[in-house]
Amino acid sequence: MKKKEFKTESKRVLDLMINSIYTNKEIFLRELISNASDAIDKLYFKSLTDKSIKIDKNNLEIRLDIDKEKRTLTISDTGCGMNEEELEKNLGTIAESGSLRFKEENQNQDDVNIIGQFGVGFYSAFMVSKKVVVESHPYNEESSYIWESEGVEGYTLSKGNKKEIGTTITLYLKDDTDDIKYSDYLEEYTIRNIIKKYSDYISYPIKMLVTNTRKKEDSDEYEEYKELETLNSMIPLWKKDKKKITEEDYNNFYTDKFYDYEKPLKVMHFNIEGNVNFNALLYIPSHAPYNYYTKDYEKGLQLYTNGVLIMDKASELLPDYYSFIKGVIDTEDIPLNISRETLQDDKNIKLIAKAIESKIKKELLDLMKDNREKYEEFYKVFGNQLKFGIYNDYGINKDKLVDLLMFYSSKDKKLITLKEYTDKLKEEDTHIYYACGETIDKIDMLPQVEKVKDKYEVLYLTDYVDEFAIMTLNEYEGKKFINVSSDKNDISTEEEKEEIKKENDKSKELLEYMKNILKDYVKDVKFTNELKSHPVCLVSEGEVSTSMEKVINAMPTDEKISASEILEININHKISDKLKDLFNTNKEELDKYTKVIYYEARLIEGLPIDNPTELSNLMCDIMANK
Ligand code: ADP
Repeated sequence: MKKKEFKTESKRVLDLMINSIYTNKEIFLRELISNASDAIDKLYFKSLTDKSIKIDKNNLEIRLDIDKEKRTLTISDTGCGMNEEELEKNLGTIAESGSLRFKEENQNQDDVNIIGQFGVGFYSAFMVSKKVVVESHPYNEESSYIWESEGVEGYTLSKGNKKEIGTTITLYLKDDTDDIKYSDYLEEYTIRNIIKKYSDYISYPIKMLVTNTRKKEDSDEYEEYKELETLNSMIPLWKKDKKKITEEDYNNFYTDKFYDYEKPLKVMHFNIEGNVNFNALLYIPSHAPYNYYTKDYEKGLQLYTNGVLIMDKASELLPDYYSFIKGVIDTEDIPLNISRETLQDDKNIKLIAKAIESKIKKELLDLMKDNREKYEEFYKVFGNQLKFGIYNDYGINKDKLVDLLMFYSSKDKKLITLKEYTDKLKEEDTHIYYACGETIDKIDMLPQVEKVKDKYEVLYLTDYVDEFAIMTLNEYEGKKFINVSSDKNDISTEEEKEEIKKENDKSKELLEYMKNILKDYVKDVKFTNELKSHPVCLVSEGEVSTSMEKVINAMPTDEKISASEILEININHKISDKLKDLFNTNKEELDKYTKVIYYEARLIEGLPIDNPTELSNLMCDIMANK
């Protein structure tokens, strides 16, 4: 017999498990049953490709046995089993990902109630047991092995004599305390309820000897007898009648299968019949997985055929812009031995993917219509993925996604769709106005926004992907997008235009002079009548806006760009008169003023300043001269 210690990290988790005042202890059974079911899946799966593995389909099952005298509950399966090394690796250490998840999620979590949702799996047995004995006979070896542990102290490994392939886990229940009756887990009634609650859809029978009563023959008396009963209904949740499924069933299935601790935001359960037939049970998570916006995230749906898991993450079934969807597809219309390589060329897979995509879109649009608040919750979490979808692949998918977009409106002070924007427009209105910035408040204070928003509704774009998506769209229902900070923004009447042109002509020399001072920074300096109370602003010319300049230059590449900018000065602001005056009286002072207002305009835009010292010195000079 070998005596071993647990790895330090496992010890800690184990300790937590044993000593936690965890109220939901019953989930240990769900965890052990899921492991058993996985083990049978694995064996069945292997037997499909390896003909040397002989299995009896009628013998794929999980058994529960209660022994009240010994205070034991035993869970046996006819799965793949574990060899000596696997026992040690799987039960002696906690899987890297499991412990990582555990740590991450528990950082701010005083309430240990959440533990059960992590798939810390096997260890949960110690919440109710003082001793756990695992005997396993792996499918590809002659002998069996026994793993035994009484908790934190460590475990022992020895040879066993289990004949049948599979694993038997015996739990020696803890003694009852004033607060907790561990002996409840020796009651058929309790076990039956726990199985119904968590493991009803497990696709293998979970059998237990249960006590029933029957009338004695030729007598009015009743007698008890034992009978092997299957406790679970086995029909996978997605194949069940929708009317018989509760919200809790759906949620439990999700949290259990996709290792989430929060219930999903939305469930989509549907059957498609036609050119291709399939059942689908899809979920929108209520939060993004921690690695969602990284390369590590793998999209995909679980693919079953005839109730057998074929692929855990069939990525072909989901377009990238819906990569957040989790769920299960079950179809009889693909071959059982389909491989990853052949999957993408399969005609039916393509049909299924297409049907899934349009269903998801329809569900999202319905959600937007019927439960705006919930849609906004969704949009906050996954909206960026939709926007990426708009501009990726040169905008090929933009039409499919555009109606799912929302932006903050200066008028309604909340998120609105593009349709809602254009519905309010008159025929002669040809533009959809937008402005970019870090926050709604910052955008609201932009000089260019101030005047436009008096006349028109302005969309405030706060995410860096927003403007790229808008640029890809270019227009919506014939109305062109226009950045209020671009030189194409033009809300003046012909009269106003004429007026400002005259003003600019009159001050031509002054403006030329200023432009010369700023020649390294701006393309032009002009007076404008499109600002309301603010003195200055920067307007960009051409395709690259100042906000795009910010985004692109923040990217970790060498490529730096700069928007072609025009400095505009409010003709109705006192500063304009001051500049005109200085041009005639004090050129030296005008130089300083010119630089300061340029720096100001950059600051307002949220652009960096190359030489802050110069700015502060100039300001002090001006102040001291007053
Ligand atoms: P998880 O199930 O989240 O991977 P567990 O701690 O529950 O973590 O189990 C660890 C590993 O032990 C499993 O991934 C599996 O490989 C193995 N295992 C557990 N129970 C069984 C079983 N009944 N039969 C075969 N292997 C098992």
